Amino acid sequence: MEFPGIWTICIIICAFGCRSVSNFQHVSSLRVAQQNHRPKVVDQQQFWELNNKLGDIEAVHNVLSKILVERVVGTPNHAMVREYIVNYMKNLGWTVDEHEFFDDTPLDRLKFTNIIAKVNPNAKRYLTLACHYDSKLMENFVGATDSAVPCAIMMNIATTLKEQFKSLHDSEISLQYIFFDGEEAFVEWNAKDSIYGARQLAKKWQAEHELDKIDLMILLDLLGAPKPTFYSYFPETEGWYYQMADIESRLGAAGQLVEHAHNSATIQHQKRNQGYFQPYSIRMQIEDDHIPFLRRDVRILHLIPTPFPEVWHTPSDDLRAIDFAAVTNLNKIIGIFLCEYLHIGSASTDH
Ligand SMILES: [Zn+2]
Repeated sequence: MEFPGIWTICIIICAFGCRSVSNFQHVSSLRVAQQNHRPKVVDQQQFWELNNKLGDIEAVHNVLSKILVERVVGTPNHAMVREYIVNYMKNLGWTVDEHEFFDDTPLDRLKFTNIIAKVNPNAKRYLTLACHYDSKLMENFVGATDSAVPCAIMMNIATTLKEQFKSLHDSEISLQYIFFDGEEAFVEWNAKDSIYGARQLAKKWQAEHELDKIDLMILLDLLGAPKPTFYSYFPETEGWYYQMADIESRLGAAGQLVEHAHNSATIQHQKRNQGYFQPYSIRMQIEDDHIPFLRRDVRILHLIPTPFPEVWHTPSDDLRAIDFAAVTNLNKIIGIFLCEYLHIGSASTDH
């Protein structure tokens, strides 16, 4: 992704709990249902059950041991990582599609493959979680935060909450993962040399009316470095951003976030702004896989830290750059968010 060269940022201070109000005049019933959708907060028993399950990040380590390699589009490593992700999701019982296409890059004409995994392929609506699995063409660059860790977090959540997600196999609203290919530029980031997979998929899904099914696309990028700071980048999804912040606060107050400012801040001065999710909205344009979807009116929650990790696009973005405490915390926050969005709690709960 590309950071804006000039910081023309408008910061809007927004109190916790504020919600954006939608007032579109002519919208489909599907869109109305999406806009009216509200989270179902998990009860205490569910909270602790989810907290314990999501605290297990063994799958993160397992996935990283396979995918934390140079994986540039068109190379054998890239094919190996793609197959690994496809088989991993299939083994969890998800339906997996591989969206293949060819595109011209400044270097060569290459084959790209987006991976799309769904719990229920026949659902009417989806909560979509996305990241990219290719790595940047650079010597000794394995892209731990960019974006091996986001892939591993998504796969870890699918693993640890397998029982919870069972109810999504026949529900109208289900969960969809997209592992984008070709996010990185081959030579220099520009409109043609970047986000190859996202551009093709957004175009294809617009023609097929698949975009309408996406309630919300949560794009994960540059995760895994210590102490990330997030902001709400889009007014349309501010409410969902603050839902993430609220989950972080609940976990922090319960002392369940590891090496996290929320725990100590609660004890000391009740300081705000100490966690990952900052209580601010920022309007800025970060170039990333969400752009072709945003331009087609898909609602986006962009979980990318500002500023970017120090190791961004350097060979130091490797295993040593990963703070597994931060990974555990994000795993818990995002995992509980999915459950609250999709109205699922403990594995034993009927609904
Ligand atoms: Zn990158």
